[in-house]
Amino acid sequence: MDDLKINKRLIMTPGPVSVDPRVSQAMSNSILGQFDYEFVDIMNQTMELIRKSFLTKNQWSFPIDGTSRAGLEAVISSIVKPGDDVLVPVIGRFGYLFAELVTRAGGIVHSIYKPMGEVFEQSEIIEALDQYQPKVLAIVHGETSTGRLQPIDQLGRACKERGIFSVVDAVATYQGMVIPVDEWELDAVIGGAQKCLSIPSGITPITFNDRFSDAINARKRVELGIRSTETTEPDHFIRSNYLDLAQLQDYWSPKRLNHHTEATTAIYALHTGLRLALSEGLEARAQRHAFHQEGLKASLKALGLEIYGDESNEMKMVICVNIPDGIDDIAFRDNLLKNYGIEIAGSFGELKGKIWRIGIMGYAIQKQNILTFLSAFATHLLAQDLIKNLDIENAIKTLINHYDNNAIS
Ligand SMILES: *Cc1c(COP(=O)(O)O)cnc(C)c1O
Repeated sequence: MDDLKINKRLIMTPGPVSVDPRVSQAMSNSILGQFDYEFVDIMNQTMELIRKSFLTKNQWSFPIDGTSRAGLEAVISSIVKPGDDVLVPVIGRFGYLFAELVTRAGGIVHSIYKPMGEVFEQSEIIEALDQYQPKVLAIVHGETSTGRLQPIDQLGRACKERGIFSVVDAVATYQGMVIPVDEWELDAVIGGAQKCLSIPSGITPITFNDRFSDAINARKRVELGIRSTETTEPDHFIRSNYLDLAQLQDYWSPKRLNHHTEATTAIYALHTGLRLALSEGLEARAQRHAFHQEGLKASLKALGLEIYGDESNEMKMVICVNIPDGIDDIAFRDNLLKNYGIEIAGSFGELKGKIWRIGIMGYAIQKQNILTFLSAFATHLLAQDLIKNLDIENAIKTLINHYDNNAIS
């Protein structure tokens, strides 16, 4: 068997995306024991970096070992016990994922829907909170499947006033825009790794406040082999062991409960990725995403393509493009990858085969890469010989003008 040989790629999907070499380098460091004082110090620093990344003072800001779905499942299965009502606004695939996680936790899902491509007015969600009086609101901030940004800045307070817990999937928006968790009064927020933070998948930063912590601690059960005398066993204890936030917060506190073995190299990556993001600056990072998204979107329009959905509620981390008539989605993307080493994404459900999703996420989002992407993508489209009036010259000029006439980040 040959050694691994990984070819170079330009990944323009909504994750996973390329990582800064400094992240890969950090991951190649020596392994430290999980209770080594130097590792514990790195764990504490990582918690502080997570707090800064979410603009929160929440003590409970730590990573879950697993992809973002593990973060979502940890939060949902720790707060939702059988019979609890949960409001889930659905605008795409990831809303359905919340509904699924709640159902598996034994909760009762109350979903409200919008047609694909739309978002809710916050007042509509607040009305539904009054109608269903749930224990939890579980909502997706950036619905990557449709490229929509759901406004949520009023929802945390509305929930708090009603004694409801707000849980937010900010997997795709995290580090691609500013999410001021404390200012928005959100109770529990899940970020992402392989999206705008741009580190390898497998670890998920989350944060939750004391109100949320009190609620999950009422369901705390410490496993027998490591239980001390003071722990109790409530009737409605958290069913998951691995994704039990109540035990996990004891692992991520001076108690250092020996729950699992922390993912050493993933912590090195998270620490480095967050340091890089914070030294760039949360605001500057958001502006970089929006700046390149704007330039590429304008160029794709100049090329003659149609952008999917209403631009007033678009995410800046993904550009959704209607697939031109006659083009075979999968064959086109496969050949783009094989011939140019460039990857873009399709979508799910109703939108499968209808839109392409071009990720604007993290480290790769630089002028050079965007120019390379547009050139190759447009050339590949032209080679299909299927679309009339493709204006490559106009597209490239539009992008170059964007970079020449605006501040380059
Ligand atoms: C990518 C994504 C997820 C799932 O993340 P995984 O890391 O693949 O588990 C969840 N929610 C949203 C909005 C996403 O974009």
